[in-house]
Amino acid sequence: MHVRVRGLRSVATLLLAAPLLGGLGCSQSAPDRPNVLLITLDTTRADRLGCYGNPRDTSPNLDALAADGVRFDRAIATAALTPVAHASIFTGLLPPNHGVRVIYAASGYRLPDTVPTLATVLEKEGWRTGAFLSAFPVSEFYGFDRGFETFDNGLGHAGEGVLEENETGAWSFDGTDNQRRSDETADAALAWMKKSDDPFYAWVHFWDPHDPLLVPPPDVANRYQPEVALSRTVGMRALYDAEIHWVDRQIGRLVDELRTTGVLDNTIIVVVSDHGEGLGDHDHWYHRILYQEQIRVPLLMRFPQGARGKVVPEVVRTTDIFPTVLAALGLEPEGALDGSPLHGLMAGVSEEPRLAYAEALIKYDLNAKDLLAKRPQDDVLHCLTDGKWKLIHRPLRPSESELYNLERDARETNNVFAAQPGIVEELLSRIEDLDPFVDGPFGEGDDAEAIERLRALGYVD
Ligand SMILES: [Zn+2]
Repeated sequence: MHVRVRGLRSVATLLLAAPLLGGLGCSQSAPDRPNVLLITLDTTRADRLGCYGNPRDTSPNLDALAADGVRFDRAIATAALTPVAHASIFTGLLPPNHGVRVIYAASGYRLPDTVPTLATVLEKEGWRTGAFLSAFPVSEFYGFDRGFETFDNGLGHAGEGVLEENETGAWSFDGTDNQRRSDETADAALAWMKKSDDPFYAWVHFWDPHDPLLVPPPDVANRYQPEVALSRTVGMRALYDAEIHWVDRQIGRLVDELRTTGVLDNTIIVVVSDHGEGLGDHDHWYHRILYQEQIRVPLLMRFPQGARGKVVPEVVRTTDIFPTVLAALGLEPEGALDGSPLHGLMAGVSEEPRLAYAEALIKYDLNAKDLLAKRPQDDVLHCLTDGKWKLIHRPLRPSESELYNLERDARETNNVFAAQPGIVEELLSRIEDLDPFVDGPFGEGDDAEAIERLRALGYVD
């Protein structure tokens, strides 16, 4: 695996942190400087976890965490695409504002160095920072290594330049060589956490449900398979659930470590998925588009002195995670954010419905050419929901846009776009307020740093 470890923090930072910690070398962080454990579950749709209604026992450890913390029932991601969605979790910003819009293009795929993230803020404030990830799409190629003293990408190389152009002109990476299974990632995270004295921030990313290339050990992989093969669809859904179960076991190991070492009650735990997955829903296997199975994600939080067994039914956004963690630590964001803290909702205070935005710029992603050929109607999608109504706007083919009443039609099978022009107009005007529209491919001219990096990788003459 490739692990990059930077030197110790600056002396100034250590001196600043020392009085609050009661001296260096303490075994536990001070109550006002808790540890932060952020776990991102790649490609995990909410309804496949037990605590979100899956009758299979896929997620006993996550279910226990939900019972011991807060479960957000309607958390919405900003995209069903790994780097775009992760960037929103880390920054509290929507894609048009953090700048990560696609997996690959001439620009528009890398988090600019100027955008603060949870890692850059906590590193500056004296937290020990470590990232333990499982696949290329969250690697340093996307700028996600900033702020981490230890950045263990699990790839066996530096996570740069693994995209290759195939015969159809699509730029993609070899999944087999550029991912690792969740037990290996958990091993690395646990080894680092055991060595930690200071308050730490650990980001742990699990990838297993993304694809069937690395599967769990046979007893887990076959856990939900019917004795008689019923169909490929049934088998694929069973394997998907099994991969979630394997990831859940690794989460149990991480939480057990916190409990065993006595720091569970001084650790903020956040578990969220970057996006969901199509399992045949809406005639789609895979992700990237914007139906609920794609963008409704599990979100669990456990705070040291926080609510226990609370369920928040309102719409929340993955952009709300960064401001919520900052607020819990008494820290102010450096600039304006699209998300806002969730403490009011966790305390049961009612508020105006939050509007959740998501996008899919498939037409402009050099990684998505095959999908574009298969689903041309999904070339560019911008979506907004207030929890009741959901508009999926197609700027390149507006009359093919879709509107759903999620309260009556949770599975989005009855498009009422033509019947509700007033609702469409209202939601569309709110999308326009966000100024998210892209009128052409991501060019080389608007991101000097990206061009420099592409040149270094040999992609640009
Ligand atoms: Zn993902």
